[in-house]
Amino acid sequence: MGIKRIAVEEAFVTEEIAQEWKKVLASKFVEPGFQMMGNTILGDDPGARMVHSRLVDTGAGRIQQMDADGIDMAVLSITSPGVQAFDAVTATRLAKDANDALAKAVQANPTRLAALAAVAPHYPQGAVQELQRAMTSLGMKGFLINSHTMGEYLDDRKFWPIFEAAEALDAPLYLHPREPGPDLVKPFLDYGLYFAGFGFAVETSLHAMRLIMCGLFDEFPKLKIILGHMGEGLPFWLQRIDNRYLLQVKIGAVKKMKRLPSDYFLDNFVITTSGVMSAPALKLSMEVLGAERIMFAADYPYESVTEGVQFMDTVDITDAHRQMIYSGNAEKLFKL
Ligand code: MN
Repeated sequence: MGIKRIAVEEAFVTEEIAQEWKKVLASKFVEPGFQMMGNTILGDDPGARMVHSRLVDTGAGRIQQMDADGIDMAVLSITSPGVQAFDAVTATRLAKDANDALAKAVQANPTRLAALAAVAPHYPQGAVQELQRAMTSLGMKGFLINSHTMGEYLDDRKFWPIFEAAEALDAPLYLHPREPGPDLVKPFLDYGLYFAGFGFAVETSLHAMRLIMCGLFDEFPKLKIILGHMGEGLPFWLQRIDNRYLLQVKIGAVKKMKRLPSDYFLDNFVITTSGVMSAPALKLSMEVLGAERIMFAADYPYESVTEGVQFMDTVDITDAHRQMIYSGNAEKLFKL
């Protein structure tokens, strides 16, 4: 196949951050969902050890795997929950270190790798400075935040300087999942529901809806937010969200915004295919958003890249759309 494949939600971590997670997990104050998640990456079983070794490798091993999987370029970002599990001071320091390490990896393989920056949202001024540094000095293509930070969501106005900087720097924000926040997680803890199959999407779609409903995009109309996992389910819901929003406005239950919730979603959001190998889900998303708002992602090393590529190579869409989703849209959005 002659189509270039760019995967845009590809995870890495520094060994130092992995070690700091271990300390958090051993402490009394660990969030319950994170406690359960930690074992995926930090456990002692062979599966966890393999994920760990793949996450910390941003060099030859990573490139070799990309070659084997047929991935031409990977946009790397810090794996969930990144630095957001640490206090603001530690998080700010470790985000900076992670960005330096990632920038070096990209420098060593500039045609194969690109990067999204990590920031510590709980120190917004520091996050703004780090985003500026990452976008200007380090050549990064945007930034990634792993949903809630200590249970707080980015609709809170104290975080808005981050969005102001993102808009000014033309830095797309990848709003990546993590387990549901502390006020939300309890009924997710049984049956493994806190995890990627369902809880991540509930947490992250809720976060995205909070951003829409708080009026963020009236203030920063050029902001670009990326959601993985086929938009975390939101393309399916848009008509009903609009319909009930209008009713709530009518009865005075919510404030009227300039535009409908779906208008913001369709203008300010881009979604990726990470972890979703479903033709009906892709086709619905293409019908709702248009192929130009969908990018391919493999979610290495958590998902099978072989399956992701196999799906996208063979799913019944036109080759023009396949090319846009595989690479054209990412090249434009990230200026690759
Ligand atoms: Mn991911």
